[in-house]
Amino acid sequence: MTKPGRCEACGGERVSKAFDADEPGFCVARCRDCGLGRTCPDVPDSDILAYYPQTYYGRGNVRFNRLFEAMTRLFQRRRARVLVRLVAPGPVLDVGCGRGFLLKYLQGLGYEPHGVELSDLAAAHARQRLGLDVQTDDFLQSRHEAGRLRAVVFWHTLEHFRRPQAALARARELLAPGGFVAVAVPNSESLQARLFGRHWFHLDVPRHYFHFGTRSLRSLLEAEGFRVVKLDHFCFEQNPYGWLQSFYNALGFTPNLLYALLKNESARTMRLRRHPVQLALTALLLPVLLPASLALTLLEATLRAGGTIEAYAVKAGGASGNR
Ligand SMILES: [Zn+2]
Repeated sequence: MTKPGRCEACGGERVSKAFDADEPGFCVARCRDCGLGRTCPDVPDSDILAYYPQTYYGRGNVRFNRLFEAMTRLFQRRRARVLVRLVAPGPVLDVGCGRGFLLKYLQGLGYEPHGVELSDLAAAHARQRLGLDVQTDDFLQSRHEAGRLRAVVFWHTLEHFRRPQAALARARELLAPGGFVAVAVPNSESLQARLFGRHWFHLDVPRHYFHFGTRSLRSLLEAEGFRVVKLDHFCFEQNPYGWLQSFYNALGFTPNLLYALLKNESARTMRLRRHPVQLALTALLLPVLLPASLALTLLEATLRAGGTIEAYAVKAGGASGNR
């Protein structure tokens, strides 16, 4: 195993293996000072695309069935409304903007939308169907004017960066004074993450290079010259499902079988017809596990240990970073 080395968030040297991941050959190491987890070994840039096959996105970048696709639109509207409360109208950049729905909502609310997206197909949808400015470059190399943006959004994308500190430094460079970053990440210190360990649905090794908690995310943001103004632990989009799918995973079901059921056919990596007994048991357990998942989502949010963290941080004055 590659030696984990120093912690990217706090610079600490006490980083050691926490547990083996379900994906063979990978483990999660954790910093004993700030709690930041990282996938070991990390997959080099040249190989990572093999972990994003076409089925990861689905045909035409439509991943879920119709009902859940409609629900994701509602959730994106909610993301836009939260941003509006903090960010004055002006240019905004969504890093990993997918098909561009969040940017389209923001445009309707008076913002000037820009996006970067690694998937050509998703970017094409955002450009051609929604008329948005979306680059397919790596965000660290993107062609945006420095010091101009009102907000940079990393919605479940920062954990996919091999160098999240470089991504935040780049965001800071692009932001105008007083600009915001909005960061949503799975919370590796949540109740659900602690209870389920390697079975936790949101772990997603090796696509997630890093596994943040509140302390480590705050530490990284502050190190890169941001001041956190809002931290939210309740996310109806991600957290109940995190509980539900992790329960099934931990009970020994084929990993993420229910998730496959919610996807459309083009995004499925398994044949559902091969698992008739498991599907029947999944349906039988649902009336118990679904209410439990909803209740536990409320409990963990109350304890400030929700399955995901949404952090909103303002670009602090002075020189970038404290390292
Ligand atoms: Zn650390």
